[in-house]
Amino acid sequence: MTDRAHEDTAAANLAGIRDTIARAERAAGRASGEVTLVAVSKTFDADAIRPVLEADQRVFGENRVQEAQGKWPGLREEFSGVELHLIGPLQSNKAKEAVALFDVIHSIDREKIARALKAECEAQGRNLRFFIQVNTGEEPQKAGIAPQEADAFIALCREELGLDIAGLMCIPPVDEVPAPHFALLAKIAARNGLSGLSMGMSSDFESAIALGATHVRVGSAIFGTRPRP
Ligand SMILES: *Cc1c(COP(=O)(O)O)cnc(C)c1O
Repeated sequence: MTDRAHEDTAAANLAGIRDTIARAERAAGRASGEVTLVAVSKTFDADAIRPVLEADQRVFGENRVQEAQGKWPGLREEFSGVELHLIGPLQSNKAKEAVALFDVIHSIDREKIARALKAECEAQGRNLRFFIQVNTGEEPQKAGIAPQEADAFIALCREELGLDIAGLMCIPPVDEVPAPHFALLAKIAARNGLSGLSMGMSSDFESAIALGATHVRVGSAIFGTRPRP
């Protein structure tokens, strides 16, 4: 595919995803525009992202701090109003860079990183919003706080640290039906009085919207298949 064709494809894909989101909102009896589309641009360079910005998408997700630092400062000079979400795991030694670059972080899952982010927000005078990642499938290799530890961790983040916790995030196990994981995340959020639910990716965002997602993180369905790492 030529570059031009690729650009047209990404913009067309974006339009299709917006339609599907609107339909899923209606089907779930939810207000139009209630769901925020986070366009996941990880692994794609500025030239691939630009047509999606030109189609008025402003909310983007990246999973690596260093990669995002390489492309977003320049794109932000070209396009105003960009809101950048960090959706991947974060190490404490990257907290400073993450707080400087991102507006929303979806991957708080332990006390050490919560404290590091709090300290950086204060040092930089930045007000970020956060989602707490819950390991709904209790997978040993996966990031996220265990479901049974979530209530206490949410309380620590909000009450002791005073972080602006928008809601919860999950990534269901790849080999399982995602709906029960979305339902579990929604249940933990509801009992903690949290309204934000970051759940649903290219293959399952309609199901996530039916179960209350407020933020869907869609990458390959917009930008195409990612090169293997
Ligand atoms: C890559 C990624 C996505 C997007 O995945 P697609 O299947 O390409 O839509 C969503 N969430 C997280 C945390 C990711 O790392």
